[in-house]
Amino acid sequence: MSNESLANLLKEERRFEPPAELAADANVTAEAYEQARADRLGFWAEQARRLSWETEPTETLDWSNPPFAKWFKDGRINVAYNCVDRHVEAGNGDRVALHFEGEPGDSRSVTYAELQREVSKAAHALTELGVNTGDRVAIYLPMIPETVVAMLACARIGAPHSVVFGGFSADALATRIQDADARVVITADGGYRKGGASALKPAVDEALTKPGTENVRSVLVVRRTGQDVEWTEGRDVWWHELVERQPEQHTPEAFEAEHPLFILYTSGTTGKPKGILHTTGGYLTQTAYTHHAVFDLKPERDVYWCTADVGWVTGHSYIVYGPLANGATEVLYEGTPDSPHKGRWWEIVQKYGVTLLYTAPTAIRACMKWGDDIPAKYDLSSLRILGSVGEPINPEAWMWYRQHIGAGSAPIVDTWWQTETGAMMLSPLPGATATKPGSAQLPLPGISATVVDDEAKEVPDGGGGYLVLTEPWPSMLRTIWGDDQRYLDTYWARFEHRYFAGDGAKKDTDGDIWLLGRVDDVMLVSGHNISTTEVESALVSHPAVAEAAVVGATDPQTTQAICAFVILRGTAAEHDTLVDELRAHVSKQLGPIAKPRRILPVAELPKTRSGKIMRRLLRDVAENRALGDVSTLTDSSVMDLIQTRLPAAASED
Ligand code: ATP
Ligand code: MG
Repeated sequence: MSNESLANLLKEERRFEPPAELAADANVTAEAYEQARADRLGFWAEQARRLSWETEPTETLDWSNPPFAKWFKDGRINVAYNCVDRHVEAGNGDRVALHFEGEPGDSRSVTYAELQREVSKAAHALTELGVNTGDRVAIYLPMIPETVVAMLACARIGAPHSVVFGGFSADALATRIQDADARVVITADGGYRKGGASALKPAVDEALTKPGTENVRSVLVVRRTGQDVEWTEGRDVWWHELVERQPEQHTPEAFEAEHPLFILYTSGTTGKPKGILHTTGGYLTQTAYTHHAVFDLKPERDVYWCTADVGWVTGHSYIVYGPLANGATEVLYEGTPDSPHKGRWWEIVQKYGVTLLYTAPTAIRACMKWGDDIPAKYDLSSLRILGSVGEPINPEAWMWYRQHIGAGSAPIVDTWWQTETGAMMLSPLPGATATKPGSAQLPLPGISATVVDDEAKEVPDGGGGYLVLTEPWPSMLRTIWGDDQRYLDTYWARFEHRYFAGDGAKKDTDGDIWLLGRVDDVMLVSGHNISTTEVESALVSHPAVAEAAVVGATDPQTTQAICAFVILRGTAAEHDTLVDELRAHVSKQLGPIAKPRRILPVAELPKTRSGKIMRRLLRDVAENRALGDVSTLTDSSVMDLIQTRLPAAASED
């Protein structure tokens, strides 16, 4: 990228109009904003009609006991029927639902008709194991078709699932089993990750020795890797033995719209994970609508791929429920992006002709670090819309994504949402919004959000503060599982009648919203609030930096001092003057107050399993404290490495 374009990167006025062809044929146009503004509940009632209800709802929202919402409460619906059967009944049974790509290179395509048979058999199997409507089922599986089948089978019989990411430890799994009081665990012998078979079953065996897990009566085990497993007779059952012998027809029963669909734990970036409860009708309405609107899905033509793990909310809403409710054809990839080589993702895009790609900034920054030449080797011309989720996307990474993955023309939809919101809340519309690198821009039609200051007053354009949601939305969390009080305290106590998202944000002069990172992460330096995201973006805009994490460490003079951890790009070498150069670069971009006190080049950053940077752990390191909750950290050796390097890295003013 030229120096001139680099200099323009952080400018708010930089924008890209939607491609004319896309705009002309877009599923959703700017009109939707008008329609939703005129009648928000009417708008959502209309979106609910994209689904097939056994009993159509007559009441859209019951908000008589805020913040405990009931959406479409007198409607009755079956989620699995909506995601599978109705597409077969509409004559699309031969359409591929899932193009599964295993990490070792095995692949298998599952049509909607096949998916219907598999889900039906699995639903019978769960019933045979004694799972009743309302019983919780824990799912601890790799990214394989059986995972999608298992989730849909639970939904089909009204048994809420709790999916636990396959990389979590036995302890993390045990606490989630206890918290949800699960009756059955669905797992596999193992899965393929990072070039090898990685076991899952031993963690289940260990988790089930812990107190509070006694109610688990069966463990259903998928054979994926063929590795040896310990077997507990009477408890453990092979999927291929139990599921395969079940009937291929199953009549779905409709449930109330507020029937619990799943519990899912947040990723733990800011603290101990919270068990978020989602229900049925509103959740499916908003996931289906947003997937249709934001990815402009044309189910007959598009091939969609969300690279998230199914153990994260993005996998729930935008691998399983949203896309399948819309009859999409999608890719499901088991492994890591660099197995067996760093072009694996782009090879998959080329192989299946992927048109819509949804991934996270952390992955984009990793690809930047690996080098432009890698994606350049593949034909990525099928891609027409690119999505981002999980963290603020740095303008530099946004530009790289557009340039090197999107051929300089594919619109990028930066989607802000949370486990709690269930579905996308802020995002450009690819056929209607002129996009700005680094900004999630505006609430989707039917969503009400704004930025407020400490006194709950809406900030003017150009001002900064806290992101809040001002009206209930269909896919909102209903509570924290088993803890209504924590639900009230966490989200509804900070500002009256407004949902507090916990994220800092600003409005630019056009009124577009920019996310600035967690409120917990905002730094206070000599009386100035400084956003971690902005300093990180300034660092990443330097050609030597691939990734940056910034924290404020307590400082006697300035309240907090900015401490930056940076990963260098593949081509950049650490040299004597680099740290000074980077500090000067930030100072030039954002002003001297934002100049980091210390900059530490590191090989890796601590991340959650969903790829988010865990700044609170870096703050613990910078302040010489014992590390907080690390149960959702990907790799604890990363913290050891950083800690051992820390003393040498100081660079004082
Ligand atoms: P915990 O709540 O346990 O600390 P978490 O907030 O990381 O974990 P998630 O629900 O997975 O758990 O993440 C939601 C958060 O991710 C948002 O609150 C926001 O901080 C961040 N986020 C997601 N998408 C975006 C985006 N497009 N832009 C900026 N931030 C985003
Ligand atoms: Mg959160």
